[in-house]
Amino acid sequence: MTDRNELADLCAASGTKFILALFVDLRGKPCAKLVPVEAVDELATEGVGFAGYAVGAIGQEPKDPDLIAIPDPASFTPIPFIKEGLAVVHCDPHVEGKPWPFAPRNILKSLISQAADAGFEPWVGAEVEYFLLKRDANGALVTADDADDSDQPCYDVRGLTRMYEHLTAVSTAMNQLGWSNYANDHEDGNGQFEQNFKYAEALVTADRVITLRYLLSTIAAERGMVATFMPKPFAERTGSGLHFHLSLTSGGAPVFPDSAGEDERGLGLSPTAYGFVGGVLEHACALQALMAPTVNSYKRTGATATRSGASWAPRRATYGGNDRTHYVRVPDEQRVELRGGDGSANPYLAIAAALGAGLDGVKRSLDPGEIGSCPEHIDALPLTLLHAVEALDTDPVITGVLNAAVPDIEDGASGPVSEYFSRLKREEFFAWHSAVSPWEIDNYLTAF
Ligand code: GLU
Ligand code: MG
Ligand code: MG
Repeated sequence: MTDRNELADLCAASGTKFILALFVDLRGKPCAKLVPVEAVDELATEGVGFAGYAVGAIGQEPKDPDLIAIPDPASFTPIPFIKEGLAVVHCDPHVEGKPWPFAPRNILKSLISQAADAGFEPWVGAEVEYFLLKRDANGALVTADDADDSDQPCYDVRGLTRMYEHLTAVSTAMNQLGWSNYANDHEDGNGQFEQNFKYAEALVTADRVITLRYLLSTIAAERGMVATFMPKPFAERTGSGLHFHLSLTSGGAPVFPDSAGEDERGLGLSPTAYGFVGGVLEHACALQALMAPTVNSYKRTGATATRSGASWAPRRATYGGNDRTHYVRVPDEQRVELRGGDGSANPYLAIAAALGAGLDGVKRSLDPGEIGSCPEHIDALPLTLLHAVEALDTDPVITGVLNAAVPDIEDGASGPVSEYFSRLKREEFFAWHSAVSPWEIDNYLTAF
């Protein structure tokens, strides 16, 4: 249970009157109850209850005991710029007094403790890309900025200026929260933006991605816009990625740089870092089920090029230096950038799976091979969600990540959470597959 005084003190110090006690389900859908400060002691000591089946994808049936969300005071985030006196606190769902193994935050915490057992502290930076849209007179979603019609909108200075109020409201909010917003840019698609914040501990960054999606969509709605993290809302524009910059420290010291000066491949990485990259590439196909967990995700990674000439999303499980076409980019010797993730990724699961894959590579001293080459068993990244789920089902390391919070599980290779997740995603795939799309009508209606 949470120290009651800690949460109460945080509320008092920030003038908080209401708290959004929040967690996400396996799909990354945020759920919350709004708790008045008068009930903060109960919130801290007993948590707040939810009917799990109504939450969504969290592994509960209607008859099951309530899911009790226990707040983590370390994640307390006052957001007075959204509503005066409002704060968010991220919670760990429990059932009958025990951490609920289907809760993504509990899964990531298990992976972080596995990393600690192996002697490492994981650090993560996340890049949240999104589109700003509005509804036109016919109700269709279009770019929020009418003047944003350049063929090469990346870094467009005028576009940044036209969206100044929105972008600076978000930037000011991030800095008020101590997240250190250091840049805001117009991305490669019309209406697409990215607002960067500093890396932090893995759990802190995962919480921030969830908070940021909520802030971005709420701040956009204040100006009549829709912020979307959908991976590929427009076929002819780049998709929205959720890139992760990962690094490990051991006893506080970075272990990715090549301190011995022995790296012959010239990226400045240590054998531990190459092992990590090797693990990420080895498990890339299964990893994509968590990095790119919707049917729409595969339109982002499958794209050849967009109107501006590139999709910047990986198609193959390669790694390399400062080259944004790779699955794993190595911008410098401190960290590696995983570029497979998209805006539909659940950050807790995606980060947990990346850590599971990377740590497996470290443990087995996997060699990622020559720069630009693919592991032998992988031709291409999965082309559809079904391919990714099939890869997940046969990858005991990544299913083990999903089952990591199941108590007393032996090796985690098979277990209730991975089975449930895989079933959910197969159902999603077949629901999509059974819909007849406008493309099929256009191409087949009168073709035969
Ligand atoms: N939007 C691209 C993606 O879908 C990434 C562009 C970039 O590197 O910023 O991953
Ligand atoms: Mg970007
Ligand atoms: Mg990036």
